[in-house]
Amino acid sequence: MIKFLDLHKINLQYEEAFQEKFKSFLDKGWYILGDNVKAFEKEFAAYCGTKHCIGVGNGLDALVLIFKAVIQHGKMQKGDEVIVPANTYIASILAILQADLVPVLVEPNEHTFNIDPNKIQQAITSKTKVILPVHLYGQLADMETINAIAKKNNLLVIEDAAQAHGAILPTSNSDLPTLKPGNLSYAAGFSFYPGKNLGALGDAGAITTNDDELAKIIFSLRNYGSETKYHNDFIGVNSRLDEIQASFLSVKLPYLDNENAIRRAIAKRYLSEIKNDKITLPFYDGSENHVFHLFVIRTEKRDDLQKYLSENGIQTMIHYPIPPHKQKALPQFHHLSFPITEKMHDEVLSLPISPVLTQEEIDFVVKMVNQWT
Ligand SMILES: *Cc1c(COP(=O)(O)O)cnc(C)c1O
Repeated sequence: MIKFLDLHKINLQYEEAFQEKFKSFLDKGWYILGDNVKAFEKEFAAYCGTKHCIGVGNGLDALVLIFKAVIQHGKMQKGDEVIVPANTYIASILAILQADLVPVLVEPNEHTFNIDPNKIQQAITSKTKVILPVHLYGQLADMETINAIAKKNNLLVIEDAAQAHGAILPTSNSDLPTLKPGNLSYAAGFSFYPGKNLGALGDAGAITTNDDELAKIIFSLRNYGSETKYHNDFIGVNSRLDEIQASFLSVKLPYLDNENAIRRAIAKRYLSEIKNDKITLPFYDGSENHVFHLFVIRTEKRDDLQKYLSENGIQTMIHYPIPPHKQKALPQFHHLSFPITEKMHDEVLSLPISPVLTQEEIDFVVKMVNQWT
């Protein structure tokens, strides 16, 4: 059986280092917001090339806290609109709602699966304050165009980078620093959910930004709105990055680029070796702007293909079977129609693409997909 994602095998690679971290954690006896969180925040900010990183409880909270901080910062207010792709994971939309803001859904580009910049302009109203591109499946959204639209319309750009740790915006100017999420917009939210490209051994998340004041507000908001113990400046939440998770993330971060490179290499194999008329392969420009969190193919007979692969020992997943505007939890969007998004959700299938797949397993996936009729 080829697992869709063998997390056990991924984490086993780092077992010894985890054991050491756990032992020193236990010896030290400091459990909340200690040296491990500080160290990881510094390392992840350096990795992204941003001035600040704030560790939080999970990826959803990372986005919620960015929005709450932007409101606190006076750059938007409750009831303002946020433009977001209609085909995102529901967390992007829940974050907007939890901050008392209004999500405005926009269709994706059919090839990249990312928000279609050509459809953003028509969604802008006098209430629009933010564009929230989601780097879906690990591929950067068209940030240059999105940032240009934002600039023209005086909007902020905030990235949902939960699936795109380490993706780099290609630039023809070699003098520029490498541009990663958090350095491509006002702020970015990351998730370190175990299945993400940089995954903790539990829940964890972070925010990256270059804005000193925003960072200061978020540091406070994640810890009850308090900078000095028992002095509360804001109505904050409890969403702190856990010490032990931070220490595990510090172990894995140095290997992230290598793991992303392995994912890209697998993707390149799939893209050149999968040949089946019934299947559409994902768009990839060959650059480092894609970290292949997921390798998503499309076919009209998606459910048939999934069943066939499962019968042949290959586990696949669907990201995602139901678009947010069709979810029971979001009746306010049920009247809307997004044909591209809806078709996508009927057709997408994610093949295994974890950095611990063997060449033989990749061979087998290719062979079985090619033999499907
Ligand atoms: C995983 C994910 C989130 C939420 O992250 P959690 O850590 O699970 O809260 C948000 N947005 C996207 C696009 C995600 O894939």
